Amino acid sequence: MGENEIDLLVQLQNIDSQLDENNKKEEQFLSEIKNIDSEIKSTEQSLLSKKEELKNTKKERMEKELRIKELEDLLQKHEEEKYKVKSQHEFDTIYQKMASLEKEKDKEEDDFLELMEKEEQLSDLLPSLEKKSEQEKERLSREKDKLNSELISLKKTREDLVKKREQVAKKISKVYYNQYEQLRKTKNGLAVVMVENGVCGGCQVKISPSLIGQIKHHQIVYCENCNRILYLR
Ligand SMILES: [Zn+2]
Repeated sequence: MGENEIDLLVQLQNIDSQLDENNKKEEQFLSEIKNIDSEIKSTEQSLLSKKEELKNTKKERMEKELRIKELEDLLQKHEEEKYKVKSQHEFDTIYQKMASLEKEKDKEEDDFLELMEKEEQLSDLLPSLEKKSEQEKERLSREKDKLNSELISLKKTREDLVKKREQVAKKISKVYYNQYEQLRKTKNGLAVVMVENGVCGGCQVKISPSLIGQIKHHQIVYCENCNRILYLR
């Protein structure tokens, strides 16, 4: 057990804690970027669906127009037939047909007007919606750029920390290194903790004076309660 072993373990713990923090941030930024991507998509989608709605309204309106024209022609034809009938029965038949066509025409005209109104509203709305959507997309992509550049610096930090870690880790004897790794796994990433105000920084249980004495002599000392490796400031 070298005199430096505990110092190296403290260094390793500091590096690993920074790495944990760094990784957490990277994950967080990646998930924020994912959210932004889906927001951009939904912004595009909502504009697209309005455009689609306008297109369909226009199409329906034109179909109504055609049908109205058809009905007018039919009515015109029957109007002329009305004067050529030879019996009351024929006249009644044509009269009934015309009444039903008129009814249909009224209905189609109401629908037509409604569609016209909807088409106008949508046409009026779309330019401002397009502009808003464009602005929103720009804002989101700026946010995304910012996150991406922060991600680059986090990646750089991670790479530096990994290199530093390698340097420190190779100086630690295998038995302590393995112990450290095992503790990291089971103790929520915290294997080496400082004793502050006489208590363990990991579990807050009081450390006996004799253990503190051993720590002062640079020995590897474990918390009697949580088994973490202890050090003093
Ligand atoms: Zn403890």
